[in-house]
Amino acid sequence: MSDRAQLGYAKTMSAAEQKTSEYTPYAAGIDIGGTKTLVGLADRAGNVKIHRQFPTNPESDPEAHLLKAVEALNLCLGALGADIKSLIGIGVNVPGLADPSAGKLVFAPFLGWRNVNVRSFLQEKWPEIPVEVANDVNACAGGEQKFGKGKYYDSFLWVTISTGIGGGLVINNEVVAGEHQLAGEIGHVMVDWDKGLPCGCGNNGCLEAHASGTAITRAAATVIRNEPESSLARFFKNGQRELSAESLANAARQGVPEAIDIYEQAGTYLGRAFSYCINIFNPGAIIIGGGVSLSFDLYESAIRRIVTEGVIDDCNKTIPIITTGLGYQAALVGAASLVMG
Ligand SMILES: [Zn+2]
Repeated sequence: MSDRAQLGYAKTMSAAEQKTSEYTPYAAGIDIGGTKTLVGLADRAGNVKIHRQFPTNPESDPEAHLLKAVEALNLCLGALGADIKSLIGIGVNVPGLADPSAGKLVFAPFLGWRNVNVRSFLQEKWPEIPVEVANDVNACAGGEQKFGKGKYYDSFLWVTISTGIGGGLVINNEVVAGEHQLAGEIGHVMVDWDKGLPCGCGNNGCLEAHASGTAITRAAATVIRNEPESSLARFFKNGQRELSAESLANAARQGVPEAIDIYEQAGTYLGRAFSYCINIFNPGAIIIGGGVSLSFDLYESAIRRIVTEGVIDDCNKTIPIITTGLGYQAALVGAASLVMG
């Protein structure tokens, strides 16, 4: 409802209804990730006021999963002393292909879920509440545009580097989804033709197969297995210490040379993919989010070196390549932003 419509409505409200109108408005966000689902409430400035999370179980029935999200949302509302009347709407991120106009999840490859009518399911519970559904990476791009560093640029590329790699394009202040909702899929830009590793999409040599958190961890595991005398193998006590993109970053910061090399190699591949994008659409910035963005300092210089070599024109060489202004909650802010005009 527009502000004007709300004002008009307020003139005829009863005292009880006027009390309702005094509720602080919140936008609800539901971010269904591959491993966990975040549910939260954000105010109109994009600040997440409360959130809860629970595991995403691929074995679970999608509607049973949505029902859990509804329960979590009710708990969030209750904790803020609010209720459903406080909601501007509910934005839902799905980890895969979405049909925003139909409010559907079309296909989430990691979860194996297909054709889930998210909007109609939620509106069965709450008929009056607007529900928007989007691909999670596109929602992140939109959230960054409204509430993060993206507001300083008319056009930018959003890149999530996490277990996989995804991208969202904002051109002239609009998230561009493309003809088939597939625009910005930078994770599947080919960056290695000679020794391309297999990617989940079926191709070889994709950026995701060489620079995602999964790829970085896999490269380290190979070194640990094949070179038991290396500094990296010793750092991880030959496999007894838990290996992750984060623990590998700690190793790099402590000077373990193989860990430093793996992050720089990932930066080289990211730089190649970024160069292609910069030459094609001349963004104002590239903004990086996702768990691996926390280790940006370890691969920033490699990205910049390759971008400087790979793009035309001096203005493209100095395009800011920066990390999200929304931190860990970027995806949740992105989901909530779907219903904030
Ligand atoms: Zn791929």
